[in-house]
Amino acid sequence: MNALGMVLAVTLRIVACDQIKLEDETWNSAKAQVIRILNRAGIEVDWMESARGSKACKRPSDGDDFLVVVGDMPPKGWTSPDAMGFAPPDTRRAYVFFSLVKRFSSNFIHTGDARANLGIVLGHAIAHELGHALIPVNAHGGSGIMHAKWSFREWSLMMAGSLLFDFDRAKTMRHEIESRHVPLPVPISERID
Ligand SMILES: [Zn+2]
Repeated sequence: MNALGMVLAVTLRIVACDQIKLEDETWNSAKAQVIRILNRAGIEVDWMESARGSKACKRPSDGDDFLVVVGDMPPKGWTSPDAMGFAPPDTRRAYVFFSLVKRFSSNFIHTGDARANLGIVLGHAIAHELGHALIPVNAHGGSGIMHAKWSFREWSLMMAGSLLFDFDRAKTMRHEIESRHVPLPVPISERID
């Protein structure tokens, strides 16, 4: 059962790697947001984690899982002032950098638990990068979570739980997950010809 209390058509398997060992409140809040946002896009999430604080991050050898890597600082020469992460095409990997999440969040006055609020922003940044990983062309656009440049508007919608994938982008993502799912080959001994 998911956050919506219904069975969803497609499942996205994620291996989440918290390389910097975030506070539990932050990490749990981010996880809850990713699952909720994808559920609202009609996507079930099968969330697995590597050991928190470890740099090791790999998918199971038989898996078609997506890797979500949360690091602290972006790579040297980072030239995307509006982004908090990136998702290299055709790698099934998404990266988000927590120092950039903190910098964005520091523009706004928070009420409530600051660590959980950072997790809310982190979760949206992860979902946005998964959007890049799952929307082959024109990922950016619209007024939802795939809006290219986030400002106070997006931050307010995040805190209200209403910064989501729009209908068309959600549909593209579901299609992409379905079409990428290649069933494992049946062992010869089990084959009935
Ligand atoms: Zn983007």
